Amino acid sequence: LDINTFTQESQMVLNFISDYYKNVENFPVQSQVEPGYLWKNSPNTPPNSPESLETILDDIRSSIIPGLTHWQSPNFFAFFQANASTAGFLGEMLCTGFNVVGFNWITSPAATELERVVMDWMGKLLNLPSPFLFSGNGGGVLHGSTCESIVCTLAAARDALLKEVGGDKITKLVVYGSDQTHFSLQKASKLVGIPPSNFRALATTASTGFGLCAHDVRKAMQEDVASGLIPLFLCATVGTTGCGAVDPIESLGHVAREYGVWFHVDAAYAGSACICPEYRHYLDGVEHADSISMNPHKWFLTNMDCCCLWVKNPRSLVDSLSTDPEILRNEATESMGVVDYKDWQIALSRRFRAMKLWVVIRRYGVANLMAHIRSDISLAKRFEALVKTDSRFEVVVPRRFALVCFRLKPPRKGEDDDDGSKLNRKLLGAINSSGRAYMSHSVVGGTYTIRCAIGTTLTSQQHVEAAWKLIQEKADHFLLV
Ligand code: PLP
Repeated sequence: LDINTFTQESQMVLNFISDYYKNVENFPVQSQVEPGYLWKNSPNTPPNSPESLETILDDIRSSIIPGLTHWQSPNFFAFFQANASTAGFLGEMLCTGFNVVGFNWITSPAATELERVVMDWMGKLLNLPSPFLFSGNGGGVLHGSTCESIVCTLAAARDALLKEVGGDKITKLVVYGSDQTHFSLQKASKLVGIPPSNFRALATTASTGFGLCAHDVRKAMQEDVASGLIPLFLCATVGTTGCGAVDPIESLGHVAREYGVWFHVDAAYAGSACICPEYRHYLDGVEHADSISMNPHKWFLTNMDCCCLWVKNPRSLVDSLSTDPEILRNEATESMGVVDYKDWQIALSRRFRAMKLWVVIRRYGVANLMAHIRSDISLAKRFEALVKTDSRFEVVVPRRFALVCFRLKPPRKGEDDDDGSKLNRKLLGAINSSGRAYMSHSVVGGTYTIRCAIGTTLTSQQHVEAAWKLIQEKADHFLLV
């Protein structure tokens, strides 16, 4: 690192990014390039001599930006947003600037201790029961993703149960979620050695708002036990990816206790909303859970990447994930009085994510963080109201947060597109290829729906209304032809 050029070159990059944000609205939201566009035009060997930053930034402007899908565009409504903010960016700069690797307390005490502070702050913001907090003998860790958090909790649950029932029983263990649970649960099950046939994605229906039904979970567990299997892990979701459904944590928690399974709450998206008192009830019953995770990188003004995971019994994570190589031995660890976060995650190396989250919370304050959530939800209400004004459309699933699932009503019965999926696929394709907005889709209860997720920090009412106009324009076209 050359401190003589550091300031000037960093400033050039800052200016570049600032121009990018000023112009981001003018780019086609979804990248319009063809596969291989960059591969074909890139030199196939690396440069031998240094190139100037100007040349590199020019290449980014001409070759990289066209191949970006602009997640920070105010017209980005796909998946769940990866919201960026000034404080998130500043925190990320500080994290990158220090570039410390706090895998053990001793390798950067501030990194570990700030993470403990921030995880208790976040837990208190969500009004989590004290057993999830360090101050209540639980604790939290920052991972890069929910996928990672679920792998770690599943590994902890697996090892704790195998200790009781015998290591040779791994093929008997069963994992439960719903057909709306994020696929990371299935991936994590595979990774921790659960046979694919022991993964249960229980069906949900409109009658439960596409939430898991505790009765169905109990029945599935009863049947599994009767056939000699051993229930291991139940995952409930607050704000499913497909349609924002909420599983009933309280009643699922009782089933989990009856069968002695590890109960995890995945609040990756909607957890952020639960900092507002009026949405906190979605977490009622969380006291029955063993672990809960949420992603500040989705909806808490924290730039990628950042996932909070809390566990009531950190020892179970450590028992499953710790290693004790000679090269990492140190007195602080041996004193048993410190947290060594390498034992709470998969990798050894780790980023100073706590810095980012800490800056976000301090720079905005809780009142503004709540205002940000409420503002996105009110934009989503506006979009939902617009959909309801046009009788050609319907809202497929009642909106709970800032995600609206809608579609064009299917054509008349007897036509070849009875369920409307072809028509809506075409509509979504036309919206996205216009470059003026980007949305995604899901299939909920067998119905193909278009998802409009509001949460990019540059999005305002004018963008929501323009997106709706675009949708109507494209619908006019398809319903005429
Ligand atoms: N769980 C839910 C409910 C999600 O919506 C998502 C992503 O959208 C995930 C898990 C996966 O999150 P991550 O990308 O952090 O692994």
